[in-house]
Amino acid sequence: MTGWTKQRVPGMRSAVGDEVVAGVEAFAESWATAIIGTSYVPMTKAEVVDHLRGLTDLLVGALLTEPFRTAAAHEVGIRLVEAHFTGTETLDRTIQLMGDELLGELRRDGDPVLYSRIAALQGALAAGYAQSLRERTLDEQEAIREAVLDARDHAEAALRASEARFRAVFAEAAIGMGISDTDGNVLEVNQSLQDMLGYPASELRQRNLRSLMHEDDVASVWEFYEELVRGERDHFRVEKRFKRRDNQSVWTHLTISLVRDDDGRPAYQVAMVEDVTDRHLLQNRLRYQALHDPLTGLPNRALFLERLGKAFDTSVVSARVGLCYLDLDGFKVINDSLGHDIGDQLLVAVARRLDESVSGDGMLVARMGGDEFVILMEGSTGTQSIVDVADRVLTSLTGPVRIDGHELSVSASIGIVERAIEGTTSADVMRDADITLYWAKADGKSRWALYDPERNAREVARFTLSATMPAALERDEFYVDYQPLVRLEDSKILGVEALVRWQHPEFGRLAPDRFIELAEETGLIVPLGRWVLRKACQQARRWLDAFGDATPFVSVNLAVRQSRDPALVADVRQILAEAALPPHLLQLELTESAIMGTADEPLEALRALSDMGVRIAIDDFGTGYSNLAYLRHLPVHELKIAGSFMEGLRAADGADPVDAQIVSTLVSLAHALGLTVTAEGVETPAQAERLRRIGCDAGQGWLFARPGPPDHIEPLFS
Ligand code: C2E
Ligand code: CA
Ligand code: CA
Repeated sequence: MTGWTKQRVPGMRSAVGDEVVAGVEAFAESWATAIIGTSYVPMTKAEVVDHLRGLTDLLVGALLTEPFRTAAAHEVGIRLVEAHFTGTETLDRTIQLMGDELLGELRRDGDPVLYSRIAALQGALAAGYAQSLRERTLDEQEAIREAVLDARDHAEAALRASEARFRAVFAEAAIGMGISDTDGNVLEVNQSLQDMLGYPASELRQRNLRSLMHEDDVASVWEFYEELVRGERDHFRVEKRFKRRDNQSVWTHLTISLVRDDDGRPAYQVAMVEDVTDRHLLQNRLRYQALHDPLTGLPNRALFLERLGKAFDTSVVSARVGLCYLDLDGFKVINDSLGHDIGDQLLVAVARRLDESVSGDGMLVARMGGDEFVILMEGSTGTQSIVDVADRVLTSLTGPVRIDGHELSVSASIGIVERAIEGTTSADVMRDADITLYWAKADGKSRWALYDPERNAREVARFTLSATMPAALERDEFYVDYQPLVRLEDSKILGVEALVRWQHPEFGRLAPDRFIELAEETGLIVPLGRWVLRKACQQARRWLDAFGDATPFVSVNLAVRQSRDPALVADVRQILAEAALPPHLLQLELTESAIMGTADEPLEALRALSDMGVRIAIDDFGTGYSNLAYLRHLPVHELKIAGSFMEGLRAADGADPVDAQIVSTLVSLAHALGLTVTAEGVETPAQAERLRRIGCDAGQGWLFARPGPPDHIEPLFS
């Protein structure tokens, strides 16, 4: 440093040179102290002193060098700025320090030339400093500006790229897209949406979303929409229709999403619309196919059940429903004889007639399958309205149906159920309609029957009885009462009729008219009849042991079904053998219909029984199909005149002459054929007296004894 000073100050004397070096050092120290706190510079104090020593050398050099120049001071101003001594007080303190101390440190106070040179150097330093500082500020501003520009370019480019991508997606998307404000004003639509709705974008942008909705939209679509624009939901997805410009409907999957502004308030809505019309039509067709009968085009069972179920879903407490369950009479015959093709055409014709005769809201005609149809009346106003429908339908079927040159007459049976929905179910209605249809058939077909709960209760009881009868037989719930057949002449008991009863655990004691017919229908009459026969024969055997010759025969009723049972003869023989009862102590009662007009086998069986020694009686004679002439060919021993004729013989005088005549004719005819005659249902002594006079052999009835257990009638035997 000292050497540097000597080189830069060549004209200085050597003694003076030493003083200058010390002055420079001292001034640099003071300068550093004065300005170190004015600016932020990344230097230690020692480094600052070092740096300022260099600048002081320059100033001192300029001050002492001839000729005098201020350029070095200008340079010092620049270097101060370059070293970041740019604080607001830096320049001020530097200038002050130069004026106050520089000459003192150089021990040159009082030199007027140096004073003016210092002033010039101060000015040059300040100028250099100011210039440098301005340049630096400008530089910095430019750097910032450039940085800002750079940054903006970047952001814009990124934005442009993302917007371009978005535009491309939006414009070219296969799915329809649209943007609207929260009032529903359309702002943007893409090509797909324009195509889908048939509007150009220009027109769509003038529309409000609401005007594009479909009048048949369900209310929930609107609820979702309002919630969305109020900001209560962020999106919703529905399947709904839009109205195209040509007024056609487009079925869509619509997703609407809400776009919020920076404060979270609803700003826009974005709709994505997928055309699902084809799918929808296909679904509709599949649904139609699933719910309609392909042959007649009528709604099928599934659709009917759906509608019936809905009718029961109503909240209207007083709602009623009416139903006609219809089945063609004798359709099977037509189908089997004329072929399925004609059968099918007949069903189509019937379907058309049904459809034509039934009209109005809440009415549905459906084909249930086969030749069964059903008519549903929702919101029925009462029995009469549905009965009217049934009448109309029956009338509509009266005219012949012409198919392929055939004139087919067709009729139907209809079961009608009409009732309030409350307290019943669709399954109940269907079951009762089915039962009622069966009644219409049983009552003679080509008619309607109306559901009747009492009739149903009777049938249910019948059903219960017939279902429990086999177990009842096993559990010995049946028993036999006996009623005497009394000789009118001397009141001797000739025979005893066995009459079965059922001690039912639930219904109590049941008379045979409650269950014999049922047993005939189910076939249980065969084992039941066999059981009665065995009981009666065993009883007769006990009486034979007790009363010997006075023992009456037992008279056991034989049902039609039993008389046709191939095992009858063998059964009777076996039972007689088991009971060790002589055959002549057994009489079998058969009705006329069981004997006459039948095939040969029953007759042969009767002959075999007769040959065995068993008595055969015709029961309830006069009530059925009577072929008196035929009687002579039959193996019969006794005629039992039905109790209904006794009515006319009731009063001693004033008797019905016709009844009296018939009875007397029957008696003489029977006698002519060698048969004995027993009159049933004898209740009064007058009747008994008249019968006796007519010549009737025996009587049976309450006058003599009510049916009862063996010990009740045994006293009468002797
Ligand atoms: P049924 O063979 O004509 O039997 C006579 C019926 O007349 C009996 O009715 C008897 O109680 C009733 N009766 C007797 N005396 C009088 C009278 O003075 N006045 C009136 N009004 N009725 C009288 P029940 O016991 O109810 O039997 C009804 C029918 O049930 C019988 O008519 C018979 O057809 C059938 N039945 C009874 N037991 C059997 C049986 O074991 N097998 C079969 N297959 N049928 C039976
Ligand atoms: Ca009888
Ligand atoms: Ca009878």
